[in-house]
Amino acid sequence: MSPINFESFYNVIDGKLEATAETRHGINPATLEKLPPVPISTHRDVNRAIDAAKSAATGWAATPMEERKQRVMQYADAVIALADQFGQMLTTEQGKPLSFAIGEAHAAATFLKGFAKMDLPERVIEDTEHRRVVTRYVPVGVCVGIVPWNCMSILEVTFKMGPALVSGCTIILKPSPFTPYCDIKMIELAQQFFPPGVVQVLSGDGSLGPLLTENPDVAKISFTGSTATGIRVSQSAAPSLKKVTLELGGNDPAIICSDIDIPKVAAKAAMKAFTNSGQVCISIERLYGHSSIYDQFMVELLEATKSLIVGNGMNELTNLGPIQNEMQYERLRAFVASIEHDKLTIAAGDSKNAFPSGNGYFMNPLVVDNPPEDSRVVVEEPFGPILPVLKWDTEEDVIKRANKSAGGLGASVWSRDAVQAERMAVQLQAGMVWINTHAELQVDAVFRGHKHSGIGSELGIEGLKAYCLTQSIVHDKIGA
Ligand code: NAD
Repeated sequence: MSPINFESFYNVIDGKLEATAETRHGINPATLEKLPPVPISTHRDVNRAIDAAKSAATGWAATPMEERKQRVMQYADAVIALADQFGQMLTTEQGKPLSFAIGEAHAAATFLKGFAKMDLPERVIEDTEHRRVVTRYVPVGVCVGIVPWNCMSILEVTFKMGPALVSGCTIILKPSPFTPYCDIKMIELAQQFFPPGVVQVLSGDGSLGPLLTENPDVAKISFTGSTATGIRVSQSAAPSLKKVTLELGGNDPAIICSDIDIPKVAAKAAMKAFTNSGQVCISIERLYGHSSIYDQFMVELLEATKSLIVGNGMNELTNLGPIQNEMQYERLRAFVASIEHDKLTIAAGDSKNAFPSGNGYFMNPLVVDNPPEDSRVVVEEPFGPILPVLKWDTEEDVIKRANKSAGGLGASVWSRDAVQAERMAVQLQAGMVWINTHAELQVDAVFRGHKHSGIGSELGIEGLKAYCLTQSIVHDKIGA
């Protein structure tokens, strides 16, 4: 493997690293220091990348699947070899604690390898003396992967690259302007394993996404981000009938039943709500505690919340890094102002000290005690370390309230009674429903949002098939 430096950052077009006339830069959210320049791609860069992806598509699709998988495996090993450097870069640009960031790089490799172990066998529908009917999978062609700044910028890229590369598609990745650095290096590293044009990256500002989604030569878009942008992507893809996968926002409920081990579940729930300072699409965002244990649960939850150390992710003791960018920081200030305005009770934390002074977009976690069901903090996805906790009495009522959200990304039930837990789980309207845990993904289990949280699937064999078109071959053996 040739060395990769984490100091200079380029687009990757047709196998070559390319600078652009204009550049921009990200900001380290823990220090507010400027990070290195990154390209601002032009319309011409977009067209050249799409041309290169088109040219590479036929050869890559014709490469035997076993060879494509082998290359993905080798690439994954290279990601592992650079996991510490990717982790350092991720903490610097995104803010999360270093151990989590290094862990994410390892997880990215695990997901890549998981895709490389999947198969897409032909299905023989009929095989008789006179007829053979087979359904097979063919790669969709040129794909675009658009990723957000928040939860897992390295991992999100592999959710799109892995299945695209294994299925035989070519793909252009567009990182978020807020967190382009690791994604650019992931694609630069990939050049050592894949032919030119097979996997490319374009960095840019807010104008870049639409240039990619509008282009008629792009066959598929896989988008992860907010519901509002997802709708725009869908509209922009419609005139050329692109395949679209949308992984959008949610507002995950967690339902805590009365029979749990209170200290154990409270500690886990705090982590599942506040990891990455709540900037995870599948964080616990609304917590429903059974009224019979509510007070005791709150005591333990507050204890667990108060023990979390907020600070620079490079500090070994830090549990919660900064909010990733100023826009989100200001949005969270508005959330806290709405909590004050509505005179809601803050059980852990203090709205006056929620935003410590000094450099960095830091925010202390807040637990809001039994707010009204229609308050902003319950209805909207805060995407930050704010957790509303509400009371419930009957299963029917809590399921109804949990399902009230327009989104349906993740949800969980926490109970030692397996029958109760499963009875409740199957009634929740969400693509991922966990029992006694939350926010756990694995490469072979399909991930998707219900309702306004998405269209199509990522991960699992369905996530691989999402980069394919089915083709049925009907052979009349005596027809000619
Ligand atoms: P966003 O929608 O603002 O941006 C996402 C990406 O889309 C960025 O790369 C952005 O540059 C690009 N983009 C913006 N406008 C575009 C346009 N018109 N056309 C094409 N691309 C465009 O989202 P964000 O603020 O980066 O992320 C936060 C949201 O993402 C939250 O709602 C969160 O829940 C959601 N999210 C969902 C998942 C999931 O898997 N379902 C995962 C992570 C984040």
